[in-house]
Amino acid sequence: MKRIAISSFVVVAAVTASLAGLQIRAQTTDQAWSTFLGGDQADLQPNRIKIEYAEPEHPQVEPFRDMLIQRRPLEKVQEIFSPLRLPMDLTVRTKECGISNAWYRRPDITICYEYLRDIVEMAPKDMSPEGISPMDAIVGQFLFTAAHETGHAVFDLLDIPLFGRPEDDADQFAAHVLIKIGQQDARRLIEGAAYMYNEYIKNPTVTVRVTAFADVHGAPVQRLYNLLCLAYGENPDAFSDVVDKGYLPRSRAPACKQEWGEVDFAFQKLIYPYIDRKLLNDVLSKSWVPDRNIPPPRMTDVPQSVR
Ligand SMILES: [Zn+2]
Repeated sequence: MKRIAISSFVVVAAVTASLAGLQIRAQTTDQAWSTFLGGDQADLQPNRIKIEYAEPEHPQVEPFRDMLIQRRPLEKVQEIFSPLRLPMDLTVRTKECGISNAWYRRPDITICYEYLRDIVEMAPKDMSPEGISPMDAIVGQFLFTAAHETGHAVFDLLDIPLFGRPEDDADQFAAHVLIKIGQQDARRLIEGAAYMYNEYIKNPTVTVRVTAFADVHGAPVQRLYNLLCLAYGENPDAFSDVVDKGYLPRSRAPACKQEWGEVDFAFQKLIYPYIDRKLLNDVLSKSWVPDRNIPPPRMTDVPQSVR
């Protein structure tokens, strides 16, 4: 009996000592979470984004590629996402695809010349009645698409768990990036990105087949309202006219602050452990929307457009 008591004392002492040892190495909650997610892995490195303007198959696409090379959109994407600490290189490539689309397939993001052509062609020719400049629409839509695909890549490469539908999560990742990197330019980026849904706003009644609701993406207008809601939720003052002018229905607006809060919380918990803070500060200190006085790219600048 006595021996047992002594043994118990030894065990308690040993446990106490090891707990004391743990306390010495105690992490903050954020550090512990980062460790749990694998954010402290040595092979996670920033500056993993590689870019390529791929040679098109058809020579008539060449001038469009030349214009892009001159405008350097991929260099912007590379810089914006350079703070991400990833386990492998991620190549963002513009390419002639034969379709107008963009996608992620490990380890590449592909953005088709045909898709970029559509963005340029659909942009307003002058300042739109809503106050969206051609430059805002082109840069906003391009960055939203690039950020959406980067979202898919980040979730995949970092093995980040998703509760929502992958397409909704990629949209939320993209919205968060545009809202945060925009800072003073957030309005121009968000409303520019929203311009791609302009036709739906102009035609408020749509008829679709029931199977349209089976798409992996939300319906286009849902994606628009989600984007505007997150922007309004983050900064109701800056985006108040989005509600006042009816672009975001008043019925949705009260929940937006919380919707933004959930997305921001997920971003802080799941993505920030993988971000190089110094590089991020460099990104946040810059403006990513060119001056409105700089003429945006026009298809008429390109002798032979992509067809
Ligand atoms: Zn997607």
